[in-house]
Amino acid sequence: MVDANYGWRMAGDARLGWDVAEAVQAARAFERMGVYWLEEPLPTSDVQGYAELRSKTALRIAAGEMVRQAHEARDLIARGGVDVIQTDVVLSGGVTGARRIADFAALSGRMWSPHTWTNGFGFLVNLHVAMAYSTCAFVEVPFDPPGWGPDRRDWLLPEPLFIAEDGTIRPPEGPGLGIPADLAWLEPRRLD
Ligand SMILES: [Mg+2]
Repeated sequence: MVDANYGWRMAGDARLGWDVAEAVQAARAFERMGVYWLEEPLPTSDVQGYAELRSKTALRIAAGEMVRQAHEARDLIARGGVDVIQTDVVLSGGVTGARRIADFAALSGRMWSPHTWTNGFGFLVNLHVAMAYSTCAFVEVPFDPPGWGPDRRDWLLPEPLFIAEDGTIRPPEGPGLGIPADLAWLEPRRLD
């Protein structure tokens, strides 16, 4: 997979993204290289651009990792034609919201594959919901050492989640999310 990361911008981000023509050129080049999907080559709001790009490449297109509203996900799939919708369970309506989007993607012949970049519990809930409802074998998680390692990602958990050398992840088997929240540890960190 290749992540262009042009779907959304952070404060201070001065990079210029691709226009549709550049995105088509990139997609066609990646297509020849056997890339599985190209992720967020255009701004998330450019649904028409996604539709145009999708009509000009056979490469799977993924998008929507910061989408909040179900209708945004619906439009990216139904009008934009994206192959993979990447909504985060934490940001897009929780477990029920994610299930609705996953169902809509599946009914449309597309995939839901969550992106998660919040914290250990966000990772956990996306992993469990993906195992339950996703038709795609992949989840996008924070793992970019040394800057983004398991300790920085999973500081809310008793111990970091383990990602195997081959990239596979086994979710914890306990009830609920599999790992109970340590409320005694959280209490002194309350902000109010
Ligand atoms: Mg991404």
